[in-house]
Amino acid sequence: MSLVLITHLEEDEGGAYRQDIHIEGGQCGGYATACGLDGGFSGEEMRSEPAPRGAKINCSACFQLWKEFRRVRLNQFSPECAK
Ligand SMILES: [Zn+2]
Repeated sequence: MSLVLITHLEEDEGGAYRQDIHIEGGQCGGYATACGLDGGFSGEEMRSEPAPRGAKINCSACFQLWKEFRRVRLNQFSPECAK
């Protein structure tokens, strides 16, 4: 799974843009990140790009999703779904 770098295009107090690294949203859901950020598709408030090599995820929502989802086993999916 690829990671994605989100740049929030609202300046913080120091005049800098906040950036964070997330799990990519993938093919389903229509979001740039697994935690549901749209990556700027519907507005100007953020920008999305592939994360640099070696970047570490620093989004607690993505971490929580990863922790929850990895408990589900392949045999819990119906055969049609898990093709
Ligand atoms: Zn995230």
